[in-house]
Amino acid sequence: MFYPEPIAKLIESFSRLPGIGPKTAARLAFHVLRMKEEDTIDFAKALVSVKRNLTYCSICCNITDMDPCRICSDKTRDPSAICVVQEPKDLVAMERTREFGGYYHVLHGAISPMDGVGPDDIRIKELVQRLSDERVQELILATNANIEGEATAMYLSRLVKPFGIKVTRIAHGLPVGGDLEYADEVTLSKALEGRRELY
Ligand SMILES: [Zn+2]
Repeated sequence: MFYPEPIAKLIESFSRLPGIGPKTAARLAFHVLRMKEEDTIDFAKALVSVKRNLTYCSICCNITDMDPCRICSDKTRDPSAICVVQEPKDLVAMERTREFGGYYHVLHGAISPMDGVGPDDIRIKELVQRLSDERVQELILATNANIEGEATAMYLSRLVKPFGIKVTRIAHGLPVGGDLEYADEVTLSKALEGRRELY
């Protein structure tokens, strides 16, 4: 290595992050070198804190700093519906719409035989345990509109049917302002599938 050990180590750490190539890693490392010491310490503390102070909610499996998480602790929400998402960021996206007032379940992935990810590798067991609560009447499957997300939705729908709970899938439509001709087939066929009657 041409760099002194501490900076070389930092470059290596940055380059392990997704989407960061060696050039960007070096640029970030030299940026840290120029940062004020207190900012650097705050940054380092934030990195450690994300590992030490975050846990998984024992009910919905979302990442949280308190257990149960803020959403599961909120008794004003509607217990009849559980919205199933793949990742914590999907839950955030759903919450931003302010359209859903029920509870969530975070799977932390999707079934993908190609990548060796089966039903036991994601938080399905935890979801099934929640279905014994008779207040639950609807499971909304909001997994991604790709092969893995669809496979997971199909699996869950078959698994949950015997519980007598209504299973719905969100309609994956065209992005607002998107031109029909630029939409890929999956988006377009899903948009067609999720069509509603106009009045
Ligand atoms: Zn929770």
